Amino acid sequence: MNDRENEGRGQALYRRAKELIPGGTQLLSKRPEMFLPDQWPAYYTTAAGCEVTDLDGNRYLDFSLMGVGSCILGYSDPDVSSAVVDAVRSGNLTTLNVPEEVELAELLVDLHPWADMVRYARSGGEAMAIAVRLARAASGKDIVLFSGYHGWSDWYLSANIADDEALDGHLISGLEPAGVPRELRETAVPFRFNDVVAFSQLVDRYEGRIGAIVLEPIRNAEPTPEFLEIVHRVTQKHGVPLVIDEITAGFRLNVGGAHQVVGWEPDIAVFAKGMSNGHPMAAVIGRRSVMEAAQRSFVSSTYWTDKTGPVAAIATIRKMLAVDAPRLLKTVGHTVQTGWKTLIDELGITAHVGGIYPLSHIDFESEPLLWKSVFIQQMLKQGFLATGAVYASIAHTPELVDKYLAACRIVFEEMAHTHRSEGSVQSLLSGPTVHSGFRRLN
Ligand code: PLP
Repeated sequence: MNDRENEGRGQALYRRAKELIPGGTQLLSKRPEMFLPDQWPAYYTTAAGCEVTDLDGNRYLDFSLMGVGSCILGYSDPDVSSAVVDAVRSGNLTTLNVPEEVELAELLVDLHPWADMVRYARSGGEAMAIAVRLARAASGKDIVLFSGYHGWSDWYLSANIADDEALDGHLISGLEPAGVPRELRETAVPFRFNDVVAFSQLVDRYEGRIGAIVLEPIRNAEPTPEFLEIVHRVTQKHGVPLVIDEITAGFRLNVGGAHQVVGWEPDIAVFAKGMSNGHPMAAVIGRRSVMEAAQRSFVSSTYWTDKTGPVAAIATIRKMLAVDAPRLLKTVGHTVQTGWKTLIDELGITAHVGGIYPLSHIDFESEPLLWKSVFIQQMLKQGFLATGAVYASIAHTPELVDKYLAACRIVFEEMAHTHRSEGSVQSLLSGPTVHSGFRRLN
């Protein structure tokens, strides 16, 4: 496989990409090294449902990240695609505005009765930057206490300036905030999700200076009642806006923000890739008092006015409601997690299965990167894009889930057998191991 003669077109193109594009891709999580260096197909030509065709014409079922969490309805969903194509045909950007901005705002505030107003962007990171700007403008204070990953912006990366290890466990260890002004030092301070003690220490340390509290509603673990309570108390007592990042969690447990399921009372909620099935769109929704701060701060961009984003979001949300997408995602995740658990118990594989059902993951416990690499490699041979997680979509039909678990059985059996006889699965791997990825404090 490492042999260039046998190299797929995707890997050849990726080598060229790395000469032309710093980092090779636009999203860290799409770098082939994050899946399987030298062997991951890297590029695709077409995709529909959960089937993806690579540059060599190989077809795979995607039981990995489904567009890194952006395609809950499956790839090129016909209803969403036709809404977007209609928008393109009818003129997706002019000097006048698109009425669908108002229609989508109505839909979002209907789904979130606590919210009064909506602003738009086109990606998660920029929508979070807007949210933090609005929260700081509304509160008149600068310090942001946050947990988890929220994008690439200066406000967020500044957390790594104070202390190189501040983001350890949040992002990639050793992440350098090069290019972020040193003056932003200690303006964003991380805390661990559900860590009530650490959170209250930060609240004491920065009392009177906290301009926003930012967190995901749920990721790997549910918020504990104590954590919900203390965040609620602090935001109420000190008038600090609570910003809930729904970019990945939203529209998976329910049609809307997961905060409604787990019990947060936000001032702002931010949606992006979960909302528009692969078409660039993001929304910042919030209470009038906080959102109107936008009038006192400059938040404005031409491409935030295009029509394809809102129509994609409207079509996606309406379809998620019509088919009860969250229920389907739960079933997929439940079946996958149960299947994995049965296999690892039966075969004596040391691994942990977890995550909310729509975002299930399996973490191999001994030599995790080696096991993950072999798993990905052998699953490619079975015709699957796989990794240590399955982001469920409605395109993962029960038949395809069964097929996936049958392939997992073949691969796990081979790995367990090799491990038993050789003490390692190294001999199965034909190339380098996967690079380690994001680590978040949640
Ligand atoms: N916030 C969360 C919770 C995310 O999961 C992501 C993306 O993975 C982002 C923010 C950044 O969104 P985007 O990649 O659209 O900029």
